[in-house]
Amino acid sequence: MKVIRVVTPNSIKIENDPMPKIEAKDDVILKVKSAGICGSDVSIFGGTSPVATYPRVIGHEFAGEIIELGEDVQNLKIGDHVTTNPVFNCGVCRICQKGRGNVCANLKVMGVHLDGGYREYVKVPSKNIFKLDPTLSWEKAAVIEAYTVAAQVVDRGGIEKDDIVLICGSGQIALTILQVCNIIGAKCIMTDIIEDRLKKATEFGAAHVINSKNEDVVSKVKELTNGIGADVAIDAACVGVSLKQAALGVRPAGVVVTMGFHDAVAQISEFTITSRELDIRGSRLNNNKFPEIIKWFQEDKLDPTKIITHHFHFTDIEKAFAQIKKDPENTMKIILDFD
Ligand code: MN
Repeated sequence: MKVIRVVTPNSIKIENDPMPKIEAKDDVILKVKSAGICGSDVSIFGGTSPVATYPRVIGHEFAGEIIELGEDVQNLKIGDHVTTNPVFNCGVCRICQKGRGNVCANLKVMGVHLDGGYREYVKVPSKNIFKLDPTLSWEKAAVIEAYTVAAQVVDRGGIEKDDIVLICGSGQIALTILQVCNIIGAKCIMTDIIEDRLKKATEFGAAHVINSKNEDVVSKVKELTNGIGADVAIDAACVGVSLKQAALGVRPAGVVVTMGFHDAVAQISEFTITSRELDIRGSRLNNNKFPEIIKWFQEDKLDPTKIITHHFHFTDIEKAFAQIKKDPENTMKIILDFD
């Protein structure tokens, strides 16, 4: 079977691997049908991921059809359409015991620390498998994981109906967060330095957009919120200055959520945090967010096709990465097709 392997940074190969075999009694083997490309796949390829190890079959956003099951697997059968939670936790460390398995002390993520989904067949333990309605398209199934990341951010922010949310950045991930905020009934103020992205944010339902190249984000947010600030601010731009804007744009007793892996340093004084009792919270991967997102997709409450801009056959992975490099402004989610 064909696999996409990043052998070393900047070297990607389509290789032939042996077919996976059922070993544990709860193993499930799927034939991959579709996968999404994430910014983190690009950074593993480029060698800038602070967590990945090599060589690595990348891909953590994927869906497929079950072709084989271990003898202990219940509630799943051959032919089921499924997606995979790529987050593996030990379940026994103090962090898992606190219910925070997505930051487990022994965390392993498919496509990052373990081989991932960019291959024709994948073996996954059944506890990481989620069944899908067969009427859900494979392209939608491929982006479920990306929306679980957005749901995690919204959960970490404690975002509620009628909250005013400042989202710094209007890229692909920011737009998925906006869509989840819209479902909850929160109002979003979005920023970016690229006018086309702000246009897109407006199309996706942002209440206000701010071009941070021409306008001062913090004073504009204050102006839009009776001088108080946003209830929650999310740094989805992750460029250092955006975290400062988030911390200054949020109201007293507000929540700031970070989600970047960038090492850009943000200069926030202790006074900014203490004097207004801010909560600064990281958000990583997802913690039990698959059922909710799958439900929203299947009820058509959330339309993920709006973020999908391109399709490539999986063997054209290098062309897909070249597309991201060539036109990052207009390339949002790329789907890899396996048939
Ligand atoms: Mn992702």
